[in-house]
Amino acid sequence: MKIAKNTVVTVNYKLSDAQDNLIEDGRQPMVYLHGGYENTLPKIEEELDGKEVGYSSIIQIEPEDAFGDYDAALVKVEPRNRLPEPLEVGMQFEGMPDGDDGEEAMIFTVTEIADDKVVLDGNHPLAGMALRFALNVADVREASEEEIAHGHVHGAHGHHHGDEDDEGEEGDHVAINPIH
Ligand SMILES: [Zn+2]
Repeated sequence: MKIAKNTVVTVNYKLSDAQDNLIEDGRQPMVYLHGGYENTLPKIEEELDGKEVGYSSIIQIEPEDAFGDYDAALVKVEPRNRLPEPLEVGMQFEGMPDGDDGEEAMIFTVTEIADDKVVLDGNHPLAGMALRFALNVADVREASEEEIAHGHVHGAHGHHHGDEDDEGEEGDHVAINPIH
């Protein structure tokens, strides 16, 4: 079966930067609904469209087609007492960008902690990076009507309903899913 709109694709992947430093070893395959549902990066869909089980390739995706350029304006310094304790570098918080005018909440990552100040970075951890994906298609199946209606995969490795606590971490963002 060929990968086409409304098929569910299971793909093993390894993610590296452009210098071949491993970022994610993809121990869990990526399982996504193909066809522009923003379950994965459009460049990955483009590469896999029309392919079958066993297809493998290595593609490099530039920042503008992945998680964007690094934006220094998204780095904020906050008084430490505005954030909960205990605090560690790498922790993530949801917050509103400056000048909250109805924009979507963003995820900020703690990148530095000083005595009384904390640096929060609103850039995606992979912003500004060219990403190299080694892809290997492991399975292709028809999506169910429910999956098509929801715009995401159900079942093993897919989206689970009724566990909304997970949404912050693995919601329906454009992600290479799973990325932590
Ligand atoms: Zn669903």
